[in-house]
Amino acid sequence: MKTEFPALFVSHGSPAMVIEDCPTRDFLQQLGRETGKPKGIVCVSGHWTTEQPAVTMHPQPATIHDFSGFADELFTLQYPAPGDPLLATRVIDLLASREIAVERHMSRGFDHGAWSPLMLMYPEAHIPVVQLSVQPHLDPAHHLAMGKALQPLRSEGILILASGAATHNLQDFFGRPRESDPLPYAEKFADWLKEAVASGKTGELLDYLNRAPEALRNHPTPEHFLPLFAAMGAGGGKGELIHDSFTYGCLSMASFKWR
Ligand code: ZN
Repeated sequence: MKTEFPALFVSHGSPAMVIEDCPTRDFLQQLGRETGKPKGIVCVSGHWTTEQPAVTMHPQPATIHDFSGFADELFTLQYPAPGDPLLATRVIDLLASREIAVERHMSRGFDHGAWSPLMLMYPEAHIPVVQLSVQPHLDPAHHLAMGKALQPLRSEGILILASGAATHNLQDFFGRPRESDPLPYAEKFADWLKEAVASGKTGELLDYLNRAPEALRNHPTPEHFLPLFAAMGAGGGKGELIHDSFTYGCLSMASFKWR
């Protein structure tokens, strides 16, 4: 019996990742088996951005198909995991103890940043999931603080799953084949990130906009990178690279675990 669950950051890539054969799909299926079954999951997804931090309160959240231009099959997928208003309330209390106010969102469902990795990790959809939003106008330190507040949950049988992208330039995504070689600017950033996470260089990571090579080109908007800081905060110290591949030349699928 596990006593503490890890904090994870996964790069979710294209929504098609769920139905196409690719290394990340295999990785996420294996990750679910290796991690074991938590009592609940708090998911911080780059696809839910709000002014103030917010949590999902709905007991049976809908599956949101928040993308366009992808295969019809993707729009039929459902992830019927229950919500968990009690866990959501615990999240609110933990963040309040660090003076971070969290709003209750009564109707919000699961976006694909949450359900695409979860569908592969826990296909039975039996484990309750609560989503916590990111604030793109706030800095990495804010997201690190949110993660730190969540840390106690890990020993209460709760998995912290942050879902975003190690690199995320969508201008270079559209029209590029999935198997494209990594674009040099994206590979450079991903290499920097992997080294910084493995060495636990929190200060450098928080200052990634100034320290990382081509930071703004890899993350023209920060919402897919900010979940990483929530996982770092919940995990603490050095992270372990648990998956590394590239899709569409511009999307590093690098994923990390802290425990
Ligand atoms: Zn995404």
